[in-house]
Amino acid sequence: MKFDPASQIQDLEQFGEFGGVNPSITDSATYTFMQAKTMLDTFHGEAEGCFLYSRHWNPSNKYLADALAAMEGTEAGWVTASGMGAITNAILQLVNTGDHIISSRTTYGGTYAFLLNYLPKFNIEVSFVDITNLEEVKAAIKGNTKLIYTETMTNPMLQISDIPSLAEIAHAKEAKLMVDNTFTPMIFSPAKLGADIVVYSMTKFINGKNDCVAGAICGSQEYINSLIDVNDGTSMLMGATLDPLRSSSILKNLHTLHIRMKQHSYNAMYLANKFTEIGLDVSFPGLSNHPGHELMKKMMNVDYGFGGMIAIDMKTADKAAALMERMEADSVGYLAVSLGYFKTLFSNSGKSTSSEVPEDKQKEMGMSEGLVRFSVGLDNDIERTFRKIKTAIEELKLI
Ligand code: PLP
Repeated sequence: MKFDPASQIQDLEQFGEFGGVNPSITDSATYTFMQAKTMLDTFHGEAEGCFLYSRHWNPSNKYLADALAAMEGTEAGWVTASGMGAITNAILQLVNTGDHIISSRTTYGGTYAFLLNYLPKFNIEVSFVDITNLEEVKAAIKGNTKLIYTETMTNPMLQISDIPSLAEIAHAKEAKLMVDNTFTPMIFSPAKLGADIVVYSMTKFINGKNDCVAGAICGSQEYINSLIDVNDGTSMLMGATLDPLRSSSILKNLHTLHIRMKQHSYNAMYLANKFTEIGLDVSFPGLSNHPGHELMKKMMNVDYGFGGMIAIDMKTADKAAALMERMEADSVGYLAVSLGYFKTLFSNSGKSTSSEVPEDKQKEMGMSEGLVRFSVGLDNDIERTFRKIKTAIEELKLI
């Protein structure tokens, strides 16, 4: 039977303690015990179902983490205060000083900056590669490689990572494969394709409301336990846990994610085709001319489409700025960083979310200064939205 992320979530039975259809919110930092010994057992992870302190576990966080683990088909999950909280914790738990990481050279700018600028202070070396070139990935493997890191659909270039092949390369060397699936929840199930750890910025599609930052880590029970070990767990000791009130609101939004992803994908496919027709230089994995199109078709959960992210190359930063300002004025959406919102968001990647990537590296990864990244919204009439964009392009003489 095919694995369906939405059905996995639907089958969960998470009741409130008074029978509420939504689980109750536990807004407590600490928990009381009837016997002193149970407290000690809980500290040692030996008291099933007991909560100790909310930096470690909170019932509201547990409901959300369990739902995310169900969605990913992993044994366990943990929720963090931001996507970067998830990524940095998940990586630091796996690598030690003297270790080596291979990373896609196109990743979210914050991740890139963490790998490039922050990890060297722990003497952790990172090789940046073209993740779509498996020979380059293999050639970068060293004796001390502990981790291959990538995004399923990379930011901002929308390259598609070959998860099964990368898992094979990693596992042959007893390294782990960690995948950021922020752009493509439900569309890809990276753990089912061989990834060991899946990380998310829930700030984006998963929550979908742009009212908070949040993150998640999904993986084996052993790995999640290690993250929150009271003695040496990165998440427990660095304290990047999510607030339980937020967990509760994100959990409710998670239950509409499947519908939202389908509409984001439908609208993005429509715009990508129409943009192509009027002669724009479009990057969208749903188009047959996209280098990752066939690979995506092999790996994706087809019900959810090709995702809501499109990049168009306006060639110059000035043209990109003119288009974005006009689109904002015409209520196409907002000139804003981030993604996965119900309204369309657009930004010039090189001047925003990838500005941490030095300009020469941006060129190396093929990123034009005029690249406009769209996170296509849930518009009911996407034809109308396209007409606005087309008029803007014609009147501003942008092509
Ligand atoms: N991963 C990707 C692909 C992102 O686009 C972002 C943010 O834009 C992050 C991670 C970081 O997430 P957060 O802003 O929630 O820390």
